[in-house]
Amino acid sequence: MKSSPTLNSRLREPYLKRALEGRRQRFEVAVDRVGERHEYEALYVPHRDESGTVQGIFVLYQDVTERNLAKRALEEANETLEARVTERTLALQEVNSQLADENLRRAATEVALSDAKRIAEQANVSKTRFLAAASHDLLQPLNAARLFCTSLSERAETAEIRELTHHLEGALGSAESLISTLLEISKLDAGALKKEEMLFDLRELVGQLSEEFRIIADDRQIGFTTRMRSAVVQTDPKLLRRVLQNLISNALRYTDRGGRVLVAMRMRDTEVLIEIWDTGIGIHPDDLPVIFDEFKRLSEGIQTDQKGLGLGLSISKRIIDLLRLQLTVRSIPGRGSLFRIAIPRALGTPIPLRSPHTRADAGLSKPLQDRQILVIDNDSSILQGMQALLGGWGASVHVAATLADALAVQTTLDRLDAALVDYHLDHGEYGTRIIAALREQQPELLAILITADRDDEMKQRAQRVGATVLHKPLKPAALRSLLTLKLRVKPPQPAA
Ligand code: ADP
Repeated sequence: MKSSPTLNSRLREPYLKRALEGRRQRFEVAVDRVGERHEYEALYVPHRDESGTVQGIFVLYQDVTERNLAKRALEEANETLEARVTERTLALQEVNSQLADENLRRAATEVALSDAKRIAEQANVSKTRFLAAASHDLLQPLNAARLFCTSLSERAETAEIRELTHHLEGALGSAESLISTLLEISKLDAGALKKEEMLFDLRELVGQLSEEFRIIADDRQIGFTTRMRSAVVQTDPKLLRRVLQNLISNALRYTDRGGRVLVAMRMRDTEVLIEIWDTGIGIHPDDLPVIFDEFKRLSEGIQTDQKGLGLGLSISKRIIDLLRLQLTVRSIPGRGSLFRIAIPRALGTPIPLRSPHTRADAGLSKPLQDRQILVIDNDSSILQGMQALLGGWGASVHVAATLADALAVQTTLDRLDAALVDYHLDHGEYGTRIIAALREQQPELLAILITADRDDEMKQRAQRVGATVLHKPLKPAALRSLLTLKLRVKPPQPAA
């Protein structure tokens, strides 16, 4: 307690008065002392005698300068704190609203992206549909042309005409293969081509391919060696065959006469490697990354009559990715190349592979002599082509474009040996319906459905009516061997 401060008596008076009336007083006063401001808390306590009468007062002064300073500092700090909290809250609100904006923008971008993706996917599907439709329409007349051509070459009397038809067949074959390849690429890109995996011995597949390519190699005077091992794998043999065909035919195409090609299988712990080595022209290191691009052709090839389309490797790469295998390339320009595929080994009993070729019955020049064959197609050029082809094999050929025509032909004949029916006819009619109608009259009839479709619905329909399916582009040799085989094994019964 400091010495009592001199206080302005006018200020004290009301407190003093109330204290003397018996009420306890507490108040604060500020005093300037030698230029220093002090603050005091004053306490006036009434002093009463035994009767309760106020005799005087106790006065108590306490210097509260420090306490008040601290209190004010605390208040100030509180205010600053509040201001800072408000400030931060505002800033936070700002960030939050920015974040909300950002989220909105992101959501909008996501919507735009998924729209773009959907549009791209739709475009891809339309592209595939367009390509499939265009290819189908293009393959149809080409198919007819091939049939005319085969028939023509079988009737060719001079070497010159044989030579011309041979060239014609080659050109038509290239066009067909280009269109089929484009169709295959679009199917692969659209994910429409499904792999059909099975357990098989790779040696069998490599063996079949080697047999085929040895003939070409011999013809080109290229040494062709194979090193085969038995190795069970689980993958799609048809698609793998396609890749190996491309790689081996490239090895032969880009290797000069006198060179060598080796197809070797090598066993590793968990995988088997198929290696295709050639001593050909090789590939420049700068070109290696682009050889898998579509229509990328770096060289004409040694055999100029065997020009490639520049699609073989791009299709191979797509298939390899689909089969989840690995394809690697090493090459030294002027020395040769190595293409290697690594395939995981599998356990189990391998299923024997079917030979991809059906051999034509070459021994018989008129294998279908006197057979009655009905061809049903909505394309008149196909009908004419088939008439020429089957006629050349000795058959009596009848044609029809609709169900009514087909039934009319059937009723005019004593018996029918076979019906070759296109799957998609005019006005949404299906060939399978015609087959069913023909078989109602003649249950034993050999029915062959010709189609470019490969879907399950077609397969089920064909199965229901007991038709054998042949795929477009129709290979005359396959048709001939099927007809000769079926018609000889099960001689047709004359109709009752
Ligand atoms: P192409 O039909 O032209 O052979 P591919 O897609 O199969 O098309 O190959 C693309 C290009 O890669 C070829 O044009 C060729 O330049 C090069 N190439 C592919 N295989 C070999 C090889 N074994 N040796 C040298 N060059 C090759």
